[in-house]
Amino acid sequence: MAKKYVYLFSEGNKDMRELLGGKGANLAEMTNLGLPIPKGFTITTEACTKYYEDGEIITKDIGEEIFSTVTKLEKSTGKKLGDLNNPLLVSVRSGARASMPGMMDTILNLGLNDSVAEQIAKQNERFAYDSYRRFIQMFSDVVYEIPKSLFEEEIDKMKSEKGVKLDTELNSEDLKRLVDIFKEIYRKQKHEDFPQDPRKQLLEAVKAVFRSWNNPRAITYRRLNEIPNDWGTAVNVQEMVFGNMGEDCGTGVAFTRNPATGENKLFGEYLMNAQGEDVVAGIRTPQLIDTLREVNESAYNDFVIYANKLEKYFKDMQDLEFTIENGKLYILQTRNGKRTAEAAIRIAVELVKEGMITEKEALLRIEPKQLDQLLHPNFDAEKLKAAIPITTGLAASPRAATGKVVFTAEEAVEKHKAGEKDLILVRLETSPEDIEGMNVCNGVLTVRGGMTSHAAVVARGMGTCCVSGCGELIVNEEEKYFQDGTGKQYHEGDYISLDGSTGNVYGERIDTVDAAVTGNLATLMGWADRYRQLGVRANADNPRDAKQAYDFGAEGIGLCRTEHMFFEADRIRAMREMIVSKTTEQREKALEKLLPMQRSDFEGLYKEMKGYPVTIRLLDPPLHEFVPHEDEEIRAIAEEMGIPFEEMKNIIVGLHEFNPMMGHRGCRLAVTYPEIARMQTRAIIEAAINVSRETNPVSPEIMIPLVGEIKELQYVKNVVTEEADKIIDASDVKIKYHVGTMIEIPRAALTADEIAKEAEFFSFGTNDLTQMTFGFSRDDAGKFLRDYYNKNIYEFDPFAKIDQKGVGKLVEMATKLGRETRPDIKLGICGEHGGEPSSVDFCHRVGLTYVSCSPYRVQIARLAAAQAAINNPR
Ligand code: ADP
Ligand code: MG
Ligand code: MG
Repeated sequence: MAKKYVYLFSEGNKDMRELLGGKGANLAEMTNLGLPIPKGFTITTEACTKYYEDGEIITKDIGEEIFSTVTKLEKSTGKKLGDLNNPLLVSVRSGARASMPGMMDTILNLGLNDSVAEQIAKQNERFAYDSYRRFIQMFSDVVYEIPKSLFEEEIDKMKSEKGVKLDTELNSEDLKRLVDIFKEIYRKQKHEDFPQDPRKQLLEAVKAVFRSWNNPRAITYRRLNEIPNDWGTAVNVQEMVFGNMGEDCGTGVAFTRNPATGENKLFGEYLMNAQGEDVVAGIRTPQLIDTLREVNESAYNDFVIYANKLEKYFKDMQDLEFTIENGKLYILQTRNGKRTAEAAIRIAVELVKEGMITEKEALLRIEPKQLDQLLHPNFDAEKLKAAIPITTGLAASPRAATGKVVFTAEEAVEKHKAGEKDLILVRLETSPEDIEGMNVCNGVLTVRGGMTSHAAVVARGMGTCCVSGCGELIVNEEEKYFQDGTGKQYHEGDYISLDGSTGNVYGERIDTVDAAVTGNLATLMGWADRYRQLGVRANADNPRDAKQAYDFGAEGIGLCRTEHMFFEADRIRAMREMIVSKTTEQREKALEKLLPMQRSDFEGLYKEMKGYPVTIRLLDPPLHEFVPHEDEEIRAIAEEMGIPFEEMKNIIVGLHEFNPMMGHRGCRLAVTYPEIARMQTRAIIEAAINVSRETNPVSPEIMIPLVGEIKELQYVKNVVTEEADKIIDASDVKIKYHVGTMIEIPRAALTADEIAKEAEFFSFGTNDLTQMTFGFSRDDAGKFLRDYYNKNIYEFDPFAKIDQKGVGKLVEMATKLGRETRPDIKLGICGEHGGEPSSVDFCHRVGLTYVSCSPYRVQIARLAAAQAAINNPR
């Protein structure tokens, strides 16, 4: 049997989202549930991929299948495409597997042409021409990319001629004139008349939706949200219901819970006598959903019933779209609503309490990366109290943002590329083209639009602060300034601050502070800890980071980079003395000065970690990183140290390496200068003794970096254990310590069975391991990786997400070999990957003991580890 490419809503269900897209699958499911859904059908995502395979055409077979289904739709509605007495009008709506709100295109009122419009006008003239002008504009935009602005300028012109403000104030005569003007625009742009044949309109519209899968903003959205390019979109063709037939009609959107805070209360907006995107486009400021009760009580009550029913059915907060036609309610869409991280957590925790989902399901509901949002700052409470808002808009997406004003998304992107960090995008309203710019800004302010406007929805999804609907502000996007109620002007580059929790806007910079972990998040993290099997540690080099890590739930330090401690002004001098030493004695003398500083660093770390393990890595970078390279600076330190300039310069030139990443670093330093390893060991052990005596027991883990050969490990390990044992023997406190290694050179992974004879633990240094396995350096790859993405050679940055096929194979192999030699070997990962969810999942499956990541990603790793354990029971 031939493959089926078109399904009536009554033939589908919610489990068919791969084929029907999210929107289509849910329309089918709601049809089956008996909700009031306008009838229609879905053209599958496979038809979309086939369209591309076939060279961007709809084949005859699929065309015929579409029209035979149109015939079925005509039978069941009793209406006919193009019929004068009872015309069928439809919407053509895109709908991918993953929801991509507003990223692809929709056409409404398809099927209208001059004679159909004329016929409908006999009943309701205003409605007929209002619908027709919308259709011409949407069709022109979506199918032929004729700029929307050409049409909008004409509407604005007509409104100002008539001295009115709102579209709804235009009468049927005006709208009829607009239709003529719009058709003229079309003719000028396309050099042909607006298509009158509804079947042609339909095919063109379907193709345009297929093409919209590859429009630039959809591509950007997919890249930001890691949606594969080859999924394709489905197309839904659905009988129209009309919110623009008069004052007993309307359209709206609502969430079953508050998508900003998670509060369990219906949250939404609507507009009477309006159609489609009017609510979200921010053309008129919409009404709050609660007021619908007064306008149309039965429609409101029905809506509440359906909303509850759908939330219970899908067991998650729903985002609904509806239309009221002549007083009767229709549901047009439901999906799991986008929400902020706070809302996501509150909703998940409350759904468990309400008995709707289990703890495990709650854990799987939350995108680990979203937790990042919670770490974004809040205003410093004192400074906020002192500030006076210049206006108050709608609190559309929480958080605090402070930054310099920019007026276009492109500029935001440019400035961001140039290194500008704190930006706030100020717009009349945002459109889907703006998402890349919104993504790089701390906050977004819009003059128009409500809580469900494009800006608000997208900002909440991104976790970006947003204040919308600041109607008091006058924005001049061309001349790049805005003006507050008092007439004060703010120009590009001026600082403003937004409070996304109150809607307040401040005309100044207000300092921010980091957020804390409490309440629902703590509950959720408690569940995560219950189910995860991977340990979670943090990479921390100083007591402040260690404390942060501990507070976020880290169970130890997986990597302390000792070199970071040497860059402070008073230390770098001793370090340089050590580097320029000519004899071992001189070097030891300089190291002597570093010892107490290093010891107190370690004491600080041990105390903050309160008995959890702390892994300290011996000096790793090449020595030239610690000396200056400009003549002027070299002269200064030469003078300071009493060494002739020429001599100093020679020493520094002598340190030069052609490929420092593969140069004299890691354990190679300790092979040349064992006294460095000796000093560091002394600091590690003495600090452990001191803290064990005074506060809590400590058993440090000493990690030898960049090992590739068992004998070099043996050599350095001997230096370490000799020194450590000497100190412990002489002390009354008998501490235990462990010596292990980083696995970061492919040869170490290949010979891990041998390495494990000496190493009591492995920590996979996947940053270096990735560099060495791919053969390109992290710092240089940025220059060409973009070409690799564009040419579909790599899908992701292997430094951000572990390359499971190659680098992962080495990790897996070393794990197996290491365990064969030493069954109880501790295995961790300490590269950037340790806090990236897909990499955490990989570490769980390979059977590592723990992951270690930056303190700010500890909670992400805890949640990702729980999800990995739930998805892959060991
Ligand atoms: P998006 O994916 O951008 O949300 P939709 O396909 O949901 O696009 O269409 C946008 C809006 O158009 C809907 O929210 C609804 O208001 C309106 N719309 C779509 N189809 C119909 C229809 N059959 N009848 C009435 N309005 C419709
Ligand atoms: Mg849309
Ligand atoms: Mg929609």
